[in-house]
Amino acid sequence: MRNVAWLFIVVVTWCMPSTVRAADSTTLDDRAAFDRALLLAGPHSYAHLPFVLVSALSSTVSPGAEAWTEFDEHGKGDRIFVYTRSRTFRCASVPRWDQNRCLLKVASVIVHEAWHLRNGPDEAGAYEAQLVFLQLTEASAFLQLNEAAAVNIREVRRARDRTLAERRNATTQAGTNPAGTSPGASGARRAP
Ligand SMILES: [Zn+2]
Repeated sequence: MRNVAWLFIVVVTWCMPSTVRAADSTTLDDRAAFDRALLLAGPHSYAHLPFVLVSALSSTVSPGAEAWTEFDEHGKGDRIFVYTRSRTFRCASVPRWDQNRCLLKVASVIVHEAWHLRNGPDEAGAYEAQLVFLQLTEASAFLQLNEAAAVNIREVRRARDRTLAERRNATTQAGTNPAGTSPGASGARRAP
């Protein structure tokens, strides 16, 4: 049954139009992994968003970033960059024992960054959306991903707590509110 479900995902993915672009040397495997994650996230909500797959990190994000959102000069969400060399994305791209968990994590990162694109750089709201998505997946046991969701929830909660603490410290020290680029959903922070 599980294999049938994944076959369904693969077939639907091939037929599903999305606006994702590959900015550089990302591969067809990267694109395939992204599309599978997009399907888990919910293509009707996210497939039309301006995703860009990149294999190099922006200088504005930290080395731990998995994805980030850029905003235009008016503060409007512009594009979502997904870093295909992150540990999670690499794990999601190749068949291995925890590939499904990693695909689900990438799906949750899509949800996180989509929240930024639509609502701005606030991390608390983005992590809340990401955790709600994972909690719904855990509760529904969709594709038997409930255990994978539970693991990801713990990981994302740790990242959220770390990111929010860093933001509080940065705000206290600088008295400024960062804007322009949201950090990645992995707890990545703005590069110093
Ligand atoms: Zn974020």
